[in-house]
Amino acid sequence: MTTALEALEHYDPEIYELIRQEKARQSGAIRLIPSENYVSRAVMAATGSVLTNKYAEGYPHKRYYEGQEVTDLIEDLARERAKKVFKADHANVQPYSGSVANLGAYLGLAQPGDTICGLLLTDGGHLTHGWKMSFTSKTFNSIQYRLDPKTGRFDMDHIRETAKEVKPKIIISGATAYPREIDFKAFGEIAKEVGAYHVSDIAHIAGLVVGGVHQSPVPFADVVSTTTHKTLRGPRGGLLLCKEEHAKNVDRAVFPGLQGGPHMHTITAIAVALAEADTPEFGNYAQQIVKNARAMAEKLLELGFELVSGGTDNHLILIDLRNKDIPGRKLAKALNKARIVSNCNTIPDDPAPPFNPSGLRIGTPSITTRGMKEEQAKQVAEFINKVVENVDNEDMLEKIGQEVLMLCSHFPVPDHFIVPENQK
Ligand SMILES: *Cc1c(COP(=O)(O)O)cnc(C)c1O
Repeated sequence: MTTALEALEHYDPEIYELIRQEKARQSGAIRLIPSENYVSRAVMAATGSVLTNKYAEGYPHKRYYEGQEVTDLIEDLARERAKKVFKADHANVQPYSGSVANLGAYLGLAQPGDTICGLLLTDGGHLTHGWKMSFTSKTFNSIQYRLDPKTGRFDMDHIRETAKEVKPKIIISGATAYPREIDFKAFGEIAKEVGAYHVSDIAHIAGLVVGGVHQSPVPFADVVSTTTHKTLRGPRGGLLLCKEEHAKNVDRAVFPGLQGGPHMHTITAIAVALAEADTPEFGNYAQQIVKNARAMAEKLLELGFELVSGGTDNHLILIDLRNKDIPGRKLAKALNKARIVSNCNTIPDDPAPPFNPSGLRIGTPSITTRGMKEEQAKQVAEFINKVVENVDNEDMLEKIGQEVLMLCSHFPVPDHFIVPENQK
């Protein structure tokens, strides 16, 4: 019997070779993009399974096509596991991604033209929180709130005032570049005060919520939206959780409102990832993500870096590079040459343009999956500092890259990929 990948090597050597190269890239680099991770072999196997062959429009036990004996059981399992780990009344596991999940949440609770209120993208919000280029601001009337530029944190008074003034139908909590714990309870209270629905988007921190190291929004939000592939460590996908009273509207918004057939191979893999998340080991993983981020932040501060909000409570660090006089994009590219993969990012109230912002966004989910601990997190901070000091010196970047490769070799990606080890 040949494995699926051996078959791919035979039938499409060109793509096989590119997958091999990507695998080598992922294992031979320190991956600090906070929205990325390494999935387990089990999640990978489910993603690459025959469930990709099946159409399953509708919901379990109410489908449009026949042949759903197995898909119904799988989607039921995925929904039950989601409800269990997030302690939610209802779960919808069909959204193709976090972006579609958000639109499903909004259309489940509001009508096109209604006012929505989320965090400005350049302060750390997501495109789908109402950014001017996004369908979310074309479909809805989007009024965005800001962070407090002094503290780099949510300013609940400003959010309350904005909400009182614009009377939104939906207030969105959550962010894509925010290093601190979010007070979802406070968001829920403001929403109640102004008669708005509260949609909480935990795309980045879902794994921390499940692992018990971040407050859960589930008791305080009408709908909770998340991706499944960031700290939750599942396949690329989306997930919605809600109170029973919104279940029908949310389900209808996703199908038939937004999507056709669900990606059953992804839903299968989401079920696997949720079972993995429902273990004590996953709790330890979530704790270690935060410990590693703290250790990395402390070291960076020691090395003279300025961090937005002064540090981190979660998996993510946002470096304000203005005192180092290096644009974010230039540093991200130099780091990549030294095998450290990150992304440049705006900082709150950034004076620089979004395409070449003043910040660098890094995070610890991937290095923690590889088994790295505080000691290695500090070492990574030192590598970053070395790159900053040698940002134009190609030879030094190459040399640092060799040191990074050495560190990576001590923390191999766990037996997670279906590309055979001997094919590296
Ligand atoms: C990543 C992210 C999303 C979107 O997820 P996609 O799967 O890329 O569509 C939505 N909201 C937040 C806060 C995110 O960080």
